[in-house]
Amino acid sequence: MYDYDLLVVGSANADLVIGVERRPGAGETVLGSDLAVHPGGKGANQAVAAARLGARTALLARVGDDTHGRLLLDAQRASGVDTVGVLVGGAPTGVALITVDPSGDNSIVVSPGANARLTPGDVRAAASLFQASRVVSAQLEIPLETVVETVRNLAEGSRFVLNPSPPRPLPTEVLAACDPLIVNEHEAKVILGDSAVGGSPEDRARILLAKGPRSVVVTLGAEGALVASAQGVTRVAPVKVDAVDTTGAGDAFTAALAWRLGRGAALTEAAAYAARVGAVAVTREGAQASFPTAAEVEAL
Ligand code: ADP
Repeated sequence: MYDYDLLVVGSANADLVIGVERRPGAGETVLGSDLAVHPGGKGANQAVAAARLGARTALLARVGDDTHGRLLLDAQRASGVDTVGVLVGGAPTGVALITVDPSGDNSIVVSPGANARLTPGDVRAAASLFQASRVVSAQLEIPLETVVETVRNLAEGSRFVLNPSPPRPLPTEVLAACDPLIVNEHEAKVILGDSAVGGSPEDRARILLAKGPRSVVVTLGAEGALVASAQGVTRVAPVKVDAVDTTGAGDAFTAALAWRLGRGAALTEAAAYAARVGAVAVTREGAQASFPTAAEVEAL
């Protein structure tokens, strides 16, 4: 019997957002809009997305002993995430400094802060959380060695889901544990390197699968997704919505898919559900603020 449907191992950031008419050049100062501070980071986003759907969710992450850390902890608890695994201190909370121009384009500077101090030792010390979790998910906004330690600490019979974002080449040991590896087209290209040149998304899904994951999901934004496993490659139909803000869509998709898999859904079924969750998320502004409840997904 598992206490948690999902354990998310990953990052938590404060997103500091300022709207600007144009970005400053070197040595220049420009005035911007009022500052908006939002809880973010891919780990924290996945945990909130899963909990809002009704998953029993825990987060293993590190924040600073500061205002941003408290904001992140409050946001997790308000969504029903168990924060027993959120470590506090060691460095300031991770921050993303985001400027948005009138065309909607972002420029982002990330200070990983406490995320960079989530260590393999922290993973080993959380053994009881791993034993209690049916599915474990991770991303790459924490040190790669911490993700390696995560796959080494999976409980017998639990399942591992990875969204390798921001993307970098992955060790064979991590790839082999993924069931599935979830990538968008950009992430697929970085992970495949030269072997991704040319070809269709289906081709890339097959080549990714040949690298060792037990299954692969390629997300295609408004075009839906692809699922690749030993049974072949299947398309997940897109859900037609009017998108206003795609921030966090991939995080909501990953969390929803991980939760449905843990509840016994087949991979294609779980991906179809996740596509509906992603579709609702893009109809609303923001990341965590845009994630739907299960009832809202049903109503779509
Ligand atoms: P990421 O945010 O990682 O780049 P995607 O943009 O591919 O990921 O989005 C993840 C999933 O969210 C997609 O596979 C799709 O199911 C859903 N989604 C994203 N954008 C849209 C959209 N414009 N319309 C409908 N669904 C979308």
